[in-house]
Amino acid sequence: MSFQNPVFIPGPTNMPEEIRKACYMPTIDHRSPVFGKILNPCLDNVRKILKSDTARIFIYPSTGTGGWETAISNTLSPGDKVLAARNGMFSHRWIDMCQRHGLDVQIVETTWGEGLPADRYEEILTADTGHQIKVVLATHNETATGVKSDIAAVRRALDAAKHPALLFVDGVSSIASMDFRFDEWGVDIAVTGSQKGFMLPAGLAILGFSDKAIAASKTAKLPRTFFDIDDMTKGYANNAFPYTPPVGLMNGLKLATDMLLEEGLENVFARHHRIAEGVRRAVDAWGLKLCAARPDVYSDTVSAIRTPEGFNATEIVTHAASKYGVAFGVGLGEVAGKVFRIGHLGMLTDVLALSGIATAEMVMADLGLKVKLGSGVAAAQDYYRNDANAVKKAAA
Ligand SMILES: *Cc1c(COP(=O)(O)O)cnc(C)c1O
Repeated sequence: MSFQNPVFIPGPTNMPEEIRKACYMPTIDHRSPVFGKILNPCLDNVRKILKSDTARIFIYPSTGTGGWETAISNTLSPGDKVLAARNGMFSHRWIDMCQRHGLDVQIVETTWGEGLPADRYEEILTADTGHQIKVVLATHNETATGVKSDIAAVRRALDAAKHPALLFVDGVSSIASMDFRFDEWGVDIAVTGSQKGFMLPAGLAILGFSDKAIAASKTAKLPRTFFDIDDMTKGYANNAFPYTPPVGLMNGLKLATDMLLEEGLENVFARHHRIAEGVRRAVDAWGLKLCAARPDVYSDTVSAIRTPEGFNATEIVTHAASKYGVAFGVGLGEVAGKVFRIGHLGMLTDVLALSGIATAEMVMADLGLKVKLGSGVAAAQDYYRNDANAVKKAAA
């Protein structure tokens, strides 16, 4: 008997059995044409998922963090100025990486729970008449706080300031789960990884580059070897990597992206929205609040839930794991101990989400929080039963 429950952490996410099998394949010669039959569909499918016609796609044996490094090391030179907002642990880590690479980061400190301040970006970019700022960083979905930011608004800020800086977007916990529009938003580099929306194990950094970002790489002086996009481009021209590719993971990515495109991106986004909204109804029924400040910044992939003052939210995660064998996410950084997180992205259905909501209720009741058993489940059930998308899908 296997006692495996679904996980409710915001990555790595649950894996469909077919994808697991696709990752587990016999050894092939990665320098033979067979690999091209895996690589090229991956590149094409990822481009479609980014909603781009022209982005150059790069896939590295790495994780989202390696994707950040690919973005900055290929396009910037030591001392270059970068503009970034810090509104959670992931935006913080990307800033930290830039600083360790010798970049000069202008940081806009932003309340954790708020989205990126596009209006502040616009003021700063307008004041930068000498165009010292080379890159604007934007974390689309702050996984630490469950906050979605408006990337179109960041693009409008750049355009209003008539500023030529590149726009780099961390979409690690949004891409393939929430709407992402590379071309429409004028994104220059999008970064993601395999273990969140793509429902794969960790192990791939996945990026899209605009022509402008590729052009910047011609003069960028930061050192890079493993992550050099020129080497990777030459590899791809021969249906290969400059080194050994993780063939099984790539085979999994081919299937995962086929599955997402077959479901239809808009349906994937609607499913995530519906599941997330059910979780939010449950949180409301529990009498708890989200870390995310307002509905327009609510994330459809992760909810960070504030627990009452004086209660250590990490206990929820520890207790859920030890008593029920279910994983929730802990609070990170500034909100450590103040929130716990329910990840609701990737391979999830309404029914799986209900099991997570039910578990959270048992845990909170065990720990003495005033949560009525069944209250959140009922609120989510009501929503899932009556949501128009769900009804439409069942009828199709
Ligand atoms: C998970 C995550 C990362 C880090 O990705 P790794 O794959 O763990 O390196 C970066 N940014 C965001 C928003 C994330 O959710």
